[in-house]
Amino acid sequence: MTIEISASQMLSARGWLHDAKISIDAEGYVVDIAPNDGQCDHSVGVLLPAMGNVHSHSFQRAMAGLAERRGPTAIDDFWTWRQVMYRFLELLSPDDIEVIAAQVQMEMMEAGYAAQAEFHYLHHAPGGKIYDQLDETSLRHFKAAELTGIGYTHLPVLYMQGGLDGRPLEGGQTRFGCDLQQFSDLYESLAARLGGMPDDFKLGVAPHSLRAVSSEGLELALSLSPIGPIHIHAAEQIGEVREVVEILGSRPVRWLLDHMPVDARWCLIHATQMEPEETLALARSGAVAGICPITEANLGDGIFDGHRFLGAGGMIGIGSDSNVRIGLTEELRMLEVSQRLRDGKRSILTDDQTLSNGRYLYERAARGSARALGRNAGRIEVGALADFIALDLNSPVLGALREDAILDAWIFAGTDDIVTHVWSAGRHMVRDGAHVNRHEIQAAYSELNVRLRGRL
Ligand code: ZN
Repeated sequence: MTIEISASQMLSARGWLHDAKISIDAEGYVVDIAPNDGQCDHSVGVLLPAMGNVHSHSFQRAMAGLAERRGPTAIDDFWTWRQVMYRFLELLSPDDIEVIAAQVQMEMMEAGYAAQAEFHYLHHAPGGKIYDQLDETSLRHFKAAELTGIGYTHLPVLYMQGGLDGRPLEGGQTRFGCDLQQFSDLYESLAARLGGMPDDFKLGVAPHSLRAVSSEGLELALSLSPIGPIHIHAAEQIGEVREVVEILGSRPVRWLLDHMPVDARWCLIHATQMEPEETLALARSGAVAGICPITEANLGDGIFDGHRFLGAGGMIGIGSDSNVRIGLTEELRMLEVSQRLRDGKRSILTDDQTLSNGRYLYERAARGSARALGRNAGRIEVGALADFIALDLNSPVLGALREDAILDAWIFAGTDDIVTHVWSAGRHMVRDGAHVNRHEIQAAYSELNVRLRGRL
C-alpha cells in the first residue's frame, strides 16, 4: 500500500519544493516526489527529512535532574555525576530498562527524531551476574523500539576494564563488563535475532572507549561487525585525554586515526577535546563526530571545535547521551551558541553558499546522523527511507516564513512543540504532536519514577 503526503513546503535533497507530494511504499521507502494533485492521505505545512539521534544511554533519562547538586568537593565535576549514575543503575531491572527505553524513544520522536542509536552497556544484573539470556537487556531495547516505532540502531558496548592500566571493573561497573568470549556470544545472538525485527533496524558495535577496552578488545569488536556502524567515546574529558597520552603515547583521536581504520563507518562520540590538527584529520577521515551539546554543557566537558571541523568538510551527528534533556532544536542551538560565546561572533556554523545557520546545521546533522546509524535516510529523495517530520506553519514562530527562514526561526526561536508529525521508515508514529502510544508508555514510566525515586 502506498501512502501519500503533501506539503506546502518540502526540503528535498535538491532543495525546497512547493506544493509537492511524496509517495511511500509498504517497505517505508520514498518511491515518488511530484507536484501535488490534491489527493493525499496527509497534508502538512512543512516537511523535512528527519534526523537520527546518534548517542544515547537511555537508562540515564530516569536520573535526569537528580545530579544537579554540588558533590562533596567544592568544585563538582563529571566524576561526581558518575557516582550518582552508578548508585542509580544498581536499582534497574530488565522491566525497568524497557520502560525507560520506551519513554526515551517516545520523547525523542515527539522532539523530531525518527531514529536512534543506543550505546548499550547495561548488560548484566547487579553485581555482574549474567541473566539467563545473555542479551536480556538488549532485547528490552528491541521491544521498546517495536512499541515506539523508532528507527533503531543497537550498539552493544564492549566494556572490559576500569582504566587504561587494566584495573578490574568495580562497583556499578560490573553490570557493564564482558570478556571477549561473552561479548562475541552476545553479538552473535543479537545478529541472529535481527532477522525478526523491522528491516530498518541495524546492529553495530561500540568499544566503549580507549580507557575501557584493550587493543585485543578493539580488534574483536571490529571483526564482529565488518560492515555495521562502529561507535566509541573518543575524547570527552581532559582527565581521560591525559591518561591516554600517558599510557598510549598520543591523544585519543590521534591514536584512533593512527591505529584504527577510521572511516565513514565510525562515529567518534564527544570529540570535544581535540587539537586543531586532530580536528582536521578527523574531518578528512569521513567519520562522523557525534556531538551531544546539552550533555556536554551539563557535564562541563568543553566546546566542540565545530567551525574548524565543518569547514573542513567534517560530518556531524547529534546525540542526547545522558538524556538530561531531550530536545532537538535545543541541541542544535546549543552547538551554535557555544561557538558564538567562545569566538565572540554570530552565525558561525554555516558557509558562503548556504548563509542560513538553521539550514546548514539541520541538513549537515541529518545526513551525518544517517551515516552514523547505518541508515539510508537523512534526506528526502526517491530511494531513501521515509524518515520525515512535519512542522506547524501556523505556529506563531513560523508565521509567514518561507524556506530556510523556517529552519532559522524554528531552531533559534522555537521549540520541539512545533513538530506535528513524525514518520520513521513510513511508520506514522507522532500525529498532531503526540506519539500514538503516549498514554501507555507514559503511564508505565510514571509508575517507575514513583517506585525508583523512593529508593534512591
Ligand atoms: Zn556516552
